[in-house]
Amino acid sequence: MFYNCHIHTFTEEDVPRGFLPLGLVRIMASTTGFSLVSRVLNNLNPFSDNDSFDRYCKFARIGKNCSQPDIFEGSRKFYPNGTRFAILAMDMAFMNAGKVPRDYIKQLEELANLKTNFPQVIPFIHIDPRRPGFMDILKKCVEEWDFGGVKIYPPLGYFPYDDRLNPVYQYCTEHNIPVISHCSPYNPVHFKGSKNELEQLLSKSKTPININGKNRKELCACFTNPKNWEYVLNDFPELRVCLAHFGSAYYWKKYLENPSEAENWFVIIKDMIPAHNNLYTDISFTLSEQEYFSVLKVLLTDTVLQSKILFGSDYYMVETKATEKRFALDLRAFIGETYFESIATNNPKVFFGV
Ligand SMILES: [Zn+2]
Repeated sequence: MFYNCHIHTFTEEDVPRGFLPLGLVRIMASTTGFSLVSRVLNNLNPFSDNDSFDRYCKFARIGKNCSQPDIFEGSRKFYPNGTRFAILAMDMAFMNAGKVPRDYIKQLEELANLKTNFPQVIPFIHIDPRRPGFMDILKKCVEEWDFGGVKIYPPLGYFPYDDRLNPVYQYCTEHNIPVISHCSPYNPVHFKGSKNELEQLLSKSKTPININGKNRKELCACFTNPKNWEYVLNDFPELRVCLAHFGSAYYWKKYLENPSEAENWFVIIKDMIPAHNNLYTDISFTLSEQEYFSVLKVLLTDTVLQSKILFGSDYYMVETKATEKRFALDLRAFIGETYFESIATNNPKVFFGV
């Protein structure tokens, strides 16, 4: 039995209305508005923040007028029957991008129903420490709704070592629950509030940050840096943590050009893994680029890494059809059954604690 350790099924209703500037999300909520605006923007390209637009189109193309079961179906069909899927929820209410149409609890409730109908689903609750009562929500998800993990998304504006998260990590340790953290830089999904507010949030950093000359995306990457997890891993050595995306294709490319650069997130994660017994990484999104298949295969010759890399696709954040097939079929065929079984069966079993 295989595991896809990282997919999403949240809908367009879970995306804040101000995700794009000028109220575009609201305009695009109508079908005519969507095709018109996306056609015009694809040609004119007026935004400096163009990848936010691309990402929103992905949300809208897949997540619009769809329920989570519909979206789940889109990924499931590419994998053998019996494959299990970790589905990661998203709470985007505190990224200062405006109102989220659907209440976060409704998204979680829908995910709980999906779990009832498809027991192979392992739902993860995203915890943003700014949400009031998040411990009660976490307990409800785990104890009543059979959720199997916690998602952390630092670029929305919080550090993984935020004190408010300590009870979450404590609870996860006691209940044998793993944590997956988004861990790639310069993501279009990041804190969208004012620069002042962002500086406020960054002032809680445990390491000095030079904010001069950095744009918002670069600043938000400070929350996400894999090194921030050192504090958590040292305080909670039993906690199983997966740093998703293995540093990102951005850093894989840089590594191939200059393997000795110490601040490369791929290198940081690769070196952190042997030092922490319960630290994992996943290949979701990053390995949608076929040129990295051989790098992955070589990495898997290292026995420690071989036991800590998890298979995941990040459906539907990457492209549609072609990409899911690339993960489900092409990657498996390329690395071979033995390695695939390590990352898609054996390692996930340990990570999920099943
Ligand atoms: Zn993801």
